Amino acid sequence: MDFNKLAELLYADVTALPADVEARFPKRDLPEGAKVTRFAPSPTGFVHFGSLFPTRVSERLAHQSGGVFFLRVEDTDAKREVAGAEKDLIETYSYYDIHFDEGMTLDGSKGEYGPYRQSERKEIYQTFAKQLVREGKAYPCFCTEEELSAIRTEQEALKVDPGYYGKWAIWRDASYEAIEEKINAGEKFVLRFRSEGSVERKIKFTDLIKGSIEITENDKDHVLLKSDGIPTYHFAHAVDDHLMGTTHVVRGEEWLPSLPFHVQLFSALGFKLPKYLHISQLMKLEGGSKKKLSKRDNEASLTFYKKAGYPQKSIVEYVMTLLNSNYEEWHAANPAASFEDFPFSVKKMSPSGCLFDFNKLNDVSKNVISFMTADEVFDGTVEWAEEYDPAFASLLKADPDYAKKILSIGRGGKKPRKDLTLWADVKPYVSFFYDELFAPELSFPDFDKEDIKKALAAFTASYDENDDNNAWFNKVKEIAASLGYADDMKAYKAAPEQFKGSVADISMFIRIALTGRTNSPDMHDIMHIMGRDRALARIENAAASL
Ligand code: GLU
Repeated sequence: MDFNKLAELLYADVTALPADVEARFPKRDLPEGAKVTRFAPSPTGFVHFGSLFPTRVSERLAHQSGGVFFLRVEDTDAKREVAGAEKDLIETYSYYDIHFDEGMTLDGSKGEYGPYRQSERKEIYQTFAKQLVREGKAYPCFCTEEELSAIRTEQEALKVDPGYYGKWAIWRDASYEAIEEKINAGEKFVLRFRSEGSVERKIKFTDLIKGSIEITENDKDHVLLKSDGIPTYHFAHAVDDHLMGTTHVVRGEEWLPSLPFHVQLFSALGFKLPKYLHISQLMKLEGGSKKKLSKRDNEASLTFYKKAGYPQKSIVEYVMTLLNSNYEEWHAANPAASFEDFPFSVKKMSPSGCLFDFNKLNDVSKNVISFMTADEVFDGTVEWAEEYDPAFASLLKADPDYAKKILSIGRGGKKPRKDLTLWADVKPYVSFFYDELFAPELSFPDFDKEDIKKALAAFTASYDENDDNNAWFNKVKEIAASLGYADDMKAYKAAPEQFKGSVADISMFIRIALTGRTNSPDMHDIMHIMGRDRALARIENAAASL
């Protein structure tokens, strides 16, 4: 068969040669060892939490090596495309600190290796497809859906491998005349790869995460171009990653079975194979056993975390923690450092993948918030509340200084308080500072009511805003002693029967009256922030309710 003639018959309109296209995509001028990586999502309208893993790995590999990280939108499957999905995913990744150097942007694209949307690269794919036909490495197939499904049925009945190969590949060795007849009749065709692989052989391959693997060769004549001339993922990624200079392909392990085909494709096209890193799917524990985090799981949707009130940074940190087991230790030693300073290593990634765990995420989040400034907590909370609790956002914004003073409690030291996991925790945490939110169910411990009343009255009478923490507490001790409660914990523990209670109980009476709860940050701080009037009114109201 004259393959040149066949190529002209199939793609008369395609006049460019691969060399013309190659000239438009020169080799990148990057320092030795610089990695070029990409994220290549299909805009299907759902950004899976799990996608933060390959994106972060790609981003780190590129940026840690002085390379390039780009965004290519793989929109060749019009059926799955959702309007607005591209914008949505760019915004989502940027929110999670995943920034691309090249590729699609909110207002177009940037970079010299575009178009970065596959739907706009049709003639590029066809140029390479035509070359494969010229070289006898690809051929047209005119099978109808019915014919293909009849082949499948027969293969099932015979219990043989399904697919288009060997004797089932009925167009593989068709004559030029047979093909020409179909073309002249205006029939549609798909372009198939002529596989030289055999299931009797295996390919050896090194995946940078999974290590060395052996997989059976591909013997299927897979589709390269669909009948509308649009490529399949396999063909498009080979052409694009070659032209765009990708050195490392980081993608989900669901692509691993297609790898033998991809290896063949790169070789047939005369392209250097990039390095591959296949990331295992994120798992979660359910009923004691591991299961894949599916799109239907709450945890899979990034909107879920946003709505729940996880700071963006907590998610970023959590992903790093799961990716590299030594990240947490490093971060504990360098609490103020950015994740970008961490020496990320692919070697530290687990080949079997990560396990999602809420406790761990919450732990990370508590830590993240504890190291924020009061301003950051204020801004994060307001931003979240504006969307999910507007009344609370207004309350905070009505007096930012007051809110920031509250949020400063226990912040800034080496061991900051860890009261908050979510932005949503801020409201219950600060509610007692706001008369609008303060709705105490005062439940005092089981002591003589008169003692509680007397303690509160004595405290109110002796309160002096200028007292420092020590003077403040000494007064509480004096009140304790005057009511027959131990003012010294050691003495109390040695002979509790000699006292009605201890200074800790007196403190608790004040705490409950002031905050409506048994647990709170430092009371001296609280009273200063609340101001004398509000604080004393609280205590008087509580005493009156007894
Ligand atoms: N468009 C493919 C996907 O969304 C990309 C896989 C890859 O990164 O090569 O799964």
